[in-house]
Amino acid sequence: MTEASYDAIVIGAGVMGASVSFELAKSGRSVLCIDAGPAVGGGSTSSSSAIIRFNYSTFDSVLTAWEAADRWKRFGAYLGMTDPDGMASFVPTGCLALDTPGDNRPTVTAIFRDIGIPFEDLDAAAIAEKMPDLDRGDFYPPRPVDDPRFADDPETEIAGYYTDEGGFIDDPMRAAQNFMFAARAHGTELLLNTEVTAIRRTDTAVLGITIDGGREIDAPVVVNVGGPASRSLNEMAGVLDEMNVTSRPMRQEVHVVEAPATWTTDSGSLVSDPGVGVYFRPGLGGTVLIGSSEPECDELQWADDHRDFNPNPTPELFEAQVLRTARRMPELRIPLAPVGLADLYDTSEDWAPLYDKTSLEGFFMACGTSGNQFKNATMVGTFIRALVEAAAAGQDHDVDPVSVVGDATGKAIDLSAFSRLRDKSNTTNSVLG
Ligand SMILES: Cc1cc2nc3c(=O)[nH]c(=O)nc-3n(C[C@H](O)[C@H](O)[C@H](O)COP(=O)(O)OP(=O)(O)OC[C@H]3O[C@@H](n4cnc5c(N)ncnc54)[C@H](O)[C@@H]3O)c2cc1C
Repeated sequence: MTEASYDAIVIGAGVMGASVSFELAKSGRSVLCIDAGPAVGGGSTSSSSAIIRFNYSTFDSVLTAWEAADRWKRFGAYLGMTDPDGMASFVPTGCLALDTPGDNRPTVTAIFRDIGIPFEDLDAAAIAEKMPDLDRGDFYPPRPVDDPRFADDPETEIAGYYTDEGGFIDDPMRAAQNFMFAARAHGTELLLNTEVTAIRRTDTAVLGITIDGGREIDAPVVVNVGGPASRSLNEMAGVLDEMNVTSRPMRQEVHVVEAPATWTTDSGSLVSDPGVGVYFRPGLGGTVLIGSSEPECDELQWADDHRDFNPNPTPELFEAQVLRTARRMPELRIPLAPVGLADLYDTSEDWAPLYDKTSLEGFFMACGTSGNQFKNATMVGTFIRALVEAAAAGQDHDVDPVSVVGDATGKAIDLSAFSRLRDKSNTTNSVLG
């Protein structure tokens, strides 16, 4: 029996679902946001390193990140309100991207120039002057720690490019809750601890959802923002087979270790260092957060079921990621036991996201976020709203692509770049996107 109906149902109350709920509710729609978990932002969002950077492989990805950062920097103004429980905030650190042979630096820096993103090219001496904690050696290629050449002295020196504008969000779960505060102020209803067990449809259009206990809720618009569960939700909706690019859960670890005293959020920066196989950033409280950049020598940990994975950091990956970072930052303090977390990315086949409609009328997705899209949460609600409104106006995004004009640059982001029907994008095939 149908118990209620809404203009839109948003499945997932992570940072993306909360952002989508906010934009749909702000546009005057009645919205139900529903989550199986007990807290807004308690899914993979809560594990995010929340890095904000702009070095992506394609124009639309770079522009999205740049526009999204502008909104993070004035987050309260963008939401139009202040959450009395506290606002997440942007911590500026800058971002250093180090080179590897044949990488996409020429493409990315050409896009930076086109968009107007300031950056500087740095050689090893300039890097050492800016960040004396970093070793100047070029350690490429990344190696397993038991490789006899792991500790070899480097023969050449690093180079890279740096932008002052990068940083991170101090509390990603809080950011999701800020979005939801604003979404609820615009009328969004929130249902936690409730799992969506089926997506109801006719041959051509979505009808609504069924939740645990068998209750049915109707809506002409249903948005899949299920994070690592998004594949199973696309399967429930019967749209998986039409997708040229799909996504799957992938296990990842992020380790948190004590930083050298001189490496703080003021003096240190985000460092993308694929030459040793990691990214790292300064954390609050004198720490360094370390994640993987998926070096070829490590096996990817795909998870068949988003509910079944080891949520604890393992000694093997801890050793690999922390010792690799210690090559770049020799004064890193290395604890004896793993410290950090493990969680899932919703990784797409080309590590670019899926923000799209589907052939099932009214069924949309914001998924495939591939460990690199937290930063874009301030744009993703706008993207989905634009797709929903275009569909309502009879525009078929699959043949006549929708675009969104950024507030900061006035440039158009072509949403077909994030289509499920795209040819796989030419990316780094890693979290760098
Ligand atoms: C370890 C890690 C580090 C990261 N670091 C960065 C970074 O530095 N920078 C960056 O930009 N991005 C980063 N990311 C990526 C970013 O954090 C994610 O892309 C983003 O948080 C995903 O948000 P989401 O709302 O889509 O998913 P989630 O936060 O996972 O939310 C999905 C929600 O859907 C709910 N759900 C699922 N299925 C159902 C169902 N059937 N019924 C009801 N509810 C359901 C879940 O309970 C969950 O709360 C990182 C991700 C991870 C895991």
